Amino acid sequence: MALFAGQNVIVTGGTRGIGRGISEAFLKEGATVLATYAGNKAAAEQFVEENAEYKDNIHLAGFDVSNYAESEKFFEELPFEKLDVLVNNAGIRKDSIVGMMPSEDWQKVLDINLTGTFNMSKLAVLKMMRARSGRIVNITSPCSHFGFEGQSNYAASKAGQIGLTRSLSKEVAKRGITVNCVSPGFIGTELISDLPEDLVKKYKSQVPMKRFGKTEEVAECVLFLAGKGSSYVTGTVLEVTGGL
Ligand code: NAP
Repeated sequence: MALFAGQNVIVTGGTRGIGRGISEAFLKEGATVLATYAGNKAAAEQFVEENAEYKDNIHLAGFDVSNYAESEKFFEELPFEKLDVLVNNAGIRKDSIVGMMPSEDWQKVLDINLTGTFNMSKLAVLKMMRARSGRIVNITSPCSHFGFEGQSNYAASKAGQIGLTRSLSKEVAKRGITVNCVSPGFIGTELISDLPEDLVKKYKSQVPMKRFGKTEEVAECVLFLAGKGSSYVTGTVLEVTGGL
């Protein structure tokens, strides 16, 4: 029996990179997946084409998670009634040292990574509280505690997601809703494809497992936190970092 048969799952940024890996893992386990994206329609269509065997269980929606009105409209138009799982995965980077960072780059990263998580979580818990069940998994980053150079905006947004997760988990625990984070280490996606080769080598040498992770390895952990086996787990961060 598929683990998520009959369940409805939203994965933000679910058409590329880690989010696509998460969407595919839920599809394989029988879920209906509503994968969202910001503007890259071609990648979204490619995701559907390459998962044609599950096409009846895939829905797409393009909108900006940092915009509350757009997020609200998205929730008003959900293709299903019951929402079982929300994965807040959409995220961006805009790196530079603080002294050189344009205020817009600070704001944009906070808006998408953190406010986007708030917008989607707020709208999801309103639905989940009525059903008295639900799972929220937020994709954060070890940068939240390491604070890599040149990533103050990203680190702050990712640390913020953890704070939001812990507070929200306490607010909704009595309603049968769990809220947790998965914190992937270096995962080979487009998000980090701009890293210079020498930096990639350096980062790999710092990972105890001496390699970057795969999107499937992150997805497995998301499915654990969204599944029955984690019913007494809430407000935590599961590190998926190869030991970083
Ligand atoms: P990615 O390959 O760049 O994909 C990002 C996804 O987010 C895309 O689907 C993108 O949509 C969507 N997105 C971006 N801005 C959005 C917005 N304003 N509204 C809605 N969707 C938006 O990134 P990734 O590497 O898979 O990263 C996914 C998550 O994992 C992020 O939260 C990231 O911080 C986290 N993470 C990644 C790594 C890593 O090493 N890759 C490590 C730790 C944590 P479009 O396709 O339309 O652009």
